[in-house]
Amino acid sequence: MVVQTERDDATWYECETCGLLFDEKSDATAHEKRCDGADPSYIQ
Ligand SMILES: [Zn+2]
Repeated sequence: MVVQTERDDATWYECETCGLLFDEKSDATAHEKRCDGADPSYIQ
Protein backbone atom coordinates (compact mmCIF):
# COMPACT_ATOMS: atom_id res chain seq x y z
CA MET A 1 0.00 0.00 0.00
CA VAL A 2 1.19 3.52 -0.81
CA VAL A 3 0.97 6.16 1.93
CA GLN A 4 1.08 9.89 1.32
CA THR A 5 3.38 11.75 3.70
CA GLU A 6 4.53 15.36 4.16
CA ARG A 7 8.24 15.98 4.64
CA ASP A 8 10.28 19.17 4.21
CA ASP A 9 7.25 20.97 2.77
CA ALA A 10 7.02 18.35 0.07
CA THR A 11 4.62 15.52 -0.51
CA TRP A 12 6.10 12.04 -0.69
CA TYR A 13 4.60 8.68 -1.38
CA GLU A 14 5.85 5.85 0.75
CA CYS A 15 5.71 2.15 0.00
CA GLU A 16 4.30 0.75 3.22
CA THR A 17 5.82 -2.63 2.50
CA CYS A 18 9.48 -1.61 2.41
CA GLY A 19 9.46 2.09 3.41
CA LEU A 20 10.85 3.41 0.14
CA LEU A 21 9.91 7.03 -0.64
CA PHE A 22 8.89 8.40 -4.04
CA ASP A 23 8.12 11.96 -5.14
CA GLU A 24 5.71 10.75 -7.79
CA LYS A 25 2.61 8.85 -6.79
CA SER A 26 2.68 6.94 -10.07
CA ASP A 27 6.24 5.79 -9.30
CA ALA A 28 5.22 4.64 -5.85
CA THR A 29 2.20 2.80 -7.19
CA ALA A 30 4.24 1.08 -9.89
CA HIS A 31 6.86 0.08 -7.34
CA GLU A 32 4.30 -1.14 -4.82
CA LYS A 33 2.81 -3.52 -7.39
CA ARG A 34 6.17 -5.23 -7.80
CA CYS A 35 7.37 -4.92 -4.18
CA ASP A 36 7.07 -8.04 -2.07
CA GLY A 37 8.95 -6.50 0.86
CA ALA A 38 10.96 -9.67 1.26
CA ASP A 39 13.76 -8.96 -1.19
CA PRO A 40 16.16 -6.34 0.25
CA SER A 41 18.28 -6.45 -2.92
CA TYR A 42 15.52 -4.54 -4.69
CA ILE A 43 16.01 -1.52 -2.40
CA GLN A 44 19.69 -1.31 -3.21
ZN1 LIG B 1 8.37 -1.37 -1.55
